[in-house]
Amino acid sequence: MDDCIFCKIIKKELPADIVHEDEHTISFLSINPDNDGHTLVVPKEHHVDLITTPVSVLTQLMETCQKVAKGVMKGMEVEGYNLIQNNGAVAGQVIFHIHFHIIPRLSDDGFKHWKGIPYRDAAHSKEVAEKIQRSI
Ligand code: AMP
Ligand code: ZN
Repeated sequence: MDDCIFCKIIKKELPADIVHEDEHTISFLSINPDNDGHTLVVPKEHHVDLITTPVSVLTQLMETCQKVAKGVMKGMEVEGYNLIQNNGAVAGQVIFHIHFHIIPRLSDDGFKHWKGIPYRDAAHSKEVAEKIQRSI
């Protein structure tokens, strides 16, 4: 993909702070970290998102996520991290080359999860579950 920033990083046409690289994946620091050590885990093959990425590539990606997450925890001396993967512009995806974010968390970093709101009633949640069930 000629205009893909991550493909350019993979080809070493753009600089990045690489923390791990193997045959199938590359992991480097996000240029705009939410916390120090915020790392992106990226397959070397260009695929856009979760649904369009072959399962074999996702498997390699997840193996690297596990390895790099251990390194992030040890290297950044944190006890937790968020593993996030955005799909679609509406969900905040900006780079359309699939990647996982490993975001180290600190007890005082102030980030909050979205506040969930319970379903109206059991009939509503059943209807929603059935819509998804029928679509799988
Ligand atoms: P997303 O919103 O899930 O597509 O995430 C895009 C991520 O890519 C963000 O963490 C950006 O800070 C990061 N990013 C964008 N350009 C670069 C770059 N040239 N080098 C490193 N990280 C980048
Ligand atoms: Zn790409």
